[in-house]
Amino acid sequence: MAVERTLSIIKPDAVAKNAIGDIISRFEKAGLKVVGARMMHLSREQAEGFYDVHKERPFFNDLVEFMISGPALVQVLEGEDAIAKNRDIMGATNPKEAAPGTIRADFAVSIDENAVHGSDAPETAEREIAFFFGDDGVCPRTR
Ligand code: UDP
Repeated sequence: MAVERTLSIIKPDAVAKNAIGDIISRFEKAGLKVVGARMMHLSREQAEGFYDVHKERPFFNDLVEFMISGPALVQVLEGEDAIAKNRDIMGATNPKEAAPGTIRADFAVSIDENAVHGSDAPETAEREIAFFFGDDGVCPRTR
């Protein structure tokens, strides 16, 4: 297994619940390291650009409104098999289908407001990390 990086967002609903620490501790306990972090209140343009792949979907406008409804914590997580590991810890998109003990099972209320985002493949991870962090926003661990 390779060391990978993945983009994680603690979405506005989970930030509003004051669950940032609880969620990050799940990543850390699973061996993922935070190598980038920015607290951001996304602009409409940023939210639309980030979710551009979904722009034809019926839920797109509601998704954008949700993502700009309050601050979010945008992070880069690093570790062995980080992309799949993060998706496992997050749980299914719809919290009603998320396995017990996953972030979405514990913190999400609906498929619309589902607590976290995580990149789903190496190509999307690369695009999403560049979208928020450019070339210089990530701090490699040196010890
Ligand atoms: N979403 C929604 N309604 C749907 C499907 C998705 O509001 O029927 C939102 C939800 O916030 C989800 C995001 O759109 O996390 C992106 O959807 P995707 O299918 O990529 O799910 P994810 O990768 O986040 O699990």
